Amino acid sequence: MELDSNIPNSPKPGDTFFVRMNNGSIHAAEILETRAVDGTDQQEYFVHYLNFDHRNDQWISENRLSGNASHEQMEITNEQLNDSTNSLTSRKRARLKRRLNDDSIDFSHESSFETVDQNTRKDYKPNVKYIEKIWIGQYEIDCWYHSPFPDEYGKQRLLYICEHCMKYMRLKTTYCRHLAECPLRRAPGIEIYRDSKIGCAIYEIDGAQNKLYCQNLCLLARLFLESKVICFNVSEFLFYVLMEYNDNNQTERFIGYFSKEKDSAFGYNLSCLLCLPPYQRKGYGKLLIQFSFNRNTKLIKIVFCTTLSDNSCPILP
Ligand SMILES: [Zn+2]
Repeated sequence: MELDSNIPNSPKPGDTFFVRMNNGSIHAAEILETRAVDGTDQQEYFVHYLNFDHRNDQWISENRLSGNASHEQMEITNEQLNDSTNSLTSRKRARLKRRLNDDSIDFSHESSFETVDQNTRKDYKPNVKYIEKIWIGQYEIDCWYHSPFPDEYGKQRLLYICEHCMKYMRLKTTYCRHLAECPLRRAPGIEIYRDSKIGCAIYEIDGAQNKLYCQNLCLLARLFLESKVICFNVSEFLFYVLMEYNDNNQTERFIGYFSKEKDSAFGYNLSCLLCLPPYQRKGYGKLLIQFSFNRNTKLIKIVFCTTLSDNSCPILP
């Protein structure tokens, strides 16, 4: 397909272009937002690749715009993409099923297949993702979705988060100072499980008693869960935070968490589950899910896998 290489002087939200993706391929995309590049007269553009998950939305520089996408070309491109939509949907379903075993997913707010598919509707308008990366613990992590951090924080490209108290900061100097001063070296709340074989501990935290911590935890989760909606009304929830520890190091590392309603009308054992991306595909999600079932059925003896990679680990009813 030959592209119209004319780029208008001022691309604006609503314009559609062919855009070079990170992998070098070119796809039709819509500009959702523009902003000035710090310290320059350049602009950059927040684009959504048509028929792709919003997780792929990203900020790009102008040199990634490959040309105007005319209406005719867009139709051709969409036809080509629609041919693969069914298989794309199948891949989404398969991915979601895998996430049920070990990943991050919001169970409470209809992160069903139908809701995910709704996100590809033409009238679906995602929020612009300004926070592109977070620094938490020992990792700098790419963010997947918008999260409603308060304005001055929500517009940062990189946000620093204390993995113990969940305080978020804009500046590295503030973050480093905080780490030295933060009174916590683990999650707040009550330690309810510790397993030296796998080096993990779980803490139960009441959303009503540790409101700010739990709100910040939800804001963090929203960066990786598109359908998550509860970020501030946390009082009705209990949070179970999974921390990694090393006997040689007094500081514990945040892995993830799940939450559950204190009084779920439907008896759900969990509402939302997150494992940070560096800890995904390692069995931690499965561990949290199994723990949620055990808590729900009030089993006295909690049986976990002896190793996190043990795929035979059963999930109890
Ligand atoms: Zn802290």
